[in-house]
Amino acid sequence: MAIGLSGALAQPRPTRPELIVVFAPHPDDEVIGCAGIIMQALARGARVKVVDITSGDGFDAAAAGVTHKAVNQVGPDDFFALSRLRQTQSRNAIEILGGKTDDLIILGYPDGDLGNLYDSTDDKVIRQQFTKKNETYALIQKDYHSSVHGKPAPYKRSSVLGDLAELLTTLQPTEIYVTDETDGHIDHRAAFWFLRDAAKQMGYKGAFYTYLVHGLPAWPFPPGVTPNRLFESGKVDGEVAPRGLPWPPPRRVPLTAEQAERKLKSIRAHNIPVVGMPEHQSEMESFVKSEEVFWTPLSHSR
Ligand SMILES: [Zn+2]
Repeated sequence: MAIGLSGALAQPRPTRPELIVVFAPHPDDEVIGCAGIIMQALARGARVKVVDITSGDGFDAAAAGVTHKAVNQVGPDDFFALSRLRQTQSRNAIEILGGKTDDLIILGYPDGDLGNLYDSTDDKVIRQQFTKKNETYALIQKDYHSSVHGKPAPYKRSSVLGDLAELLTTLQPTEIYVTDETDGHIDHRAAFWFLRDAAKQMGYKGAFYTYLVHGLPAWPFPPGVTPNRLFESGKVDGEVAPRGLPWPPPRRVPLTAEQAERKLKSIRAHNIPVVGMPEHQSEMESFVKSEEVFWTPLSHSR
């Protein structure tokens, strides 16, 4: 036994394999913020997981667009149709970026309610107003909690925190990415708060980066598909954008022209007809630049 042990000790210590986990509040945020990170990591042989935190089932104008109904006529089945489409789009986009379909993890929490869940410190179960669901689900594969625990998780604060902390513990990522807490969308801010708390709870030691989607008062700059331009800070009515974040950003990751083109394809894979918002797709495509930019939880001025 002693010989075997000393033999094992003589082996070179294996280095921890690189694993990058991108957390998206909704199916599409992962490519808007991190398509370049994902494709570059996969190209160098790193593993990548994309975690859609919500089912993408809380956007009435998109549910109407997908089902060809008026916005005030959509019901639960229409939100399920939207959710199914958006989850399929996430899966397709991962393949465009060089990943595999099983690189997608869907937690299946309620779109539009992440802020309510984070705030509900009494841990009561929430019912989503659009789908009437009160527990996790996914439509193109099993939701994370069902796949690991054999049953869905109720929509409550401790479920989200528990799933995220368990994922970090199981996967032991070397880098994680999540939307920034200065984001204008409450689900995006709450995604950050949940991730920050989960990382703290399980003693996460890897790198922690944030990306910005709905920056305030407007974002990104310059507007439009501009694969040859860097992100810039902007000004709206005298106010500097993005609000609450240092500029230049602490981390800038260059994209080649080919990578920017592929990022555009992955964003186009998320095309949804949104009633009354024809600019929705072009806004997403404005994130095609010659780089991606990131902050850290410590880089905020507050
Ligand atoms: Zn989003």
